[in-house]
Amino acid sequence: MIEAKAINHIGIAVRSIKESRGFYEGVLGARFEGFEEVPSQKVRVGFFLIGEPGCEVRLELLEATSDDSPIAKFIEKRGEGIQHIAYTVSDIQKRLDALKAAGVRLIDEKPRAGAHGNQIAFLHPKSSGGVLSELCEP
Ligand code: ZN
Repeated sequence: MIEAKAINHIGIAVRSIKESRGFYEGVLGARFEGFEEVPSQKVRVGFFLIGEPGCEVRLELLEATSDDSPIAKFIEKRGEGIQHIAYTVSDIQKRLDALKAAGVRLIDEKPRAGAHGNQIAFLHPKSSGGVLSELCEP
């Protein structure tokens, strides 16, 4: 069990953050937090917070920076939409080792650097009900 403490963020694949942010800010009232480039994933990420202070959820809009980015491939196959859900955990390496031992398919056996200085690792959607799941240790 990963004993998730919270939903850390929801990752949403978009063709263009610039074109999509009107909905998140103008319709949902989300607050723009900032941009971050993640060169290893060939993505640019725009962060938006939604909800009242203390119970905010972060939305991560993901835009490909290259045609061979995982986000470009995702949009090509499935169109824009929810790409992954990230859960806040502690002891990420211990969680990954336990999941592996339990036969859960992992994309990352070792955590890597994600946005906001977090350690992150992805579980394979085949082992997580078709939803790409990210473990995230702040
Ligand atoms: Zn994420």
